[in-house]
Amino acid sequence: MDDRDRAQPPDLNTMPRFAGVPSFMRLPVESDYTKLDIALIGVPWDGGTTNRAGARHGPREIRNMSSLIRRINHATGLAPFDLCRVADVGDTPVNPINVIDTLDRVHDFYDQIVKAGVVPLSAGGDHLVTLPILRAVAARWPVGMVHFDAHSDTTDSYFGGEKYTHGTPFRRAVEEGLLDPKRVVQIGIRGALFDAGDLDFARDSGMRIITIEEFHDLGIDAVIAEARRVAGDGPTYVSFDVDGLDPVYAPGTGTPEIGGFTTHEAQRMIRGLQGLDLIGGDVVEVAPPFDPSGNTALVGATLMFEILCALADAVDRRRGD
Ligand code: MN
Ligand code: MN
Repeated sequence: MDDRDRAQPPDLNTMPRFAGVPSFMRLPVESDYTKLDIALIGVPWDGGTTNRAGARHGPREIRNMSSLIRRINHATGLAPFDLCRVADVGDTPVNPINVIDTLDRVHDFYDQIVKAGVVPLSAGGDHLVTLPILRAVAARWPVGMVHFDAHSDTTDSYFGGEKYTHGTPFRRAVEEGLLDPKRVVQIGIRGALFDAGDLDFARDSGMRIITIEEFHDLGIDAVIAEARRVAGDGPTYVSFDVDGLDPVYAPGTGTPEIGGFTTHEAQRMIRGLQGLDLIGGDVVEVAPPFDPSGNTALVGATLMFEILCALADAVDRRRGD
């Protein structure tokens, strides 16, 4: 591939980072998927939120704060914009007043991305948006998942039978054959339960739950090793709910739970996934109205960059050059 195909953020000598149209990581906005290896996508929707809404505003604020992102991962040395053709492809269509219609619109958008052979990296949106993404990336076979979250998101239903909420996506994904639960690891799980059996589905289906207590007991290197063991060699998706972080680092989210991991621990864990067969990722539940400082959106943008580095490395490995 010719280096000229690989877009870079604008030269700082001609365009300082606070200037210009605020695309993800100051990259070009591109609608021709044939020009891309990795697409950065916003899903501005929070209609699956059961309590405090606001994540529909996530993509715009993450784009804004992502102007702070630079080119090279200081810890791993990875330069994703050199390895892969990356661009912002905009936001998916959504319907803010209809859940099922939105799931279809979001799925249709990702279906086009995946069929073009492009790896999606997304900014939510609430966590229900991961379900239509999985319907696209796992259309042919179930995938594994490394899932960072305070919550398992495997409840059956809310409000007397509503099946599609941000507390239910991974139960639906298992039922629909999108996730191989034996290749799913959930890291950071905590918070009081509604019912003593709230985690039964995840455990009974074979998901590996690493509670925040076990996270601290094991230590970060052992947690990374366990995540890699569970995910194995098969195609694996990364989903990062910012409420997995302690709310001191990410207060701008709808369902904060104290006692979470730090931003640095999150960065270390994502870097530890390098080498897995990663086929997509997302950062969800950034709700800017709860954090006027903008820090949660900066956290979201930076975690997207960390995931992007691991994805670009995976794309490069599959390419075999
Ligand atoms: Mn979640
Ligand atoms: Mn959560």
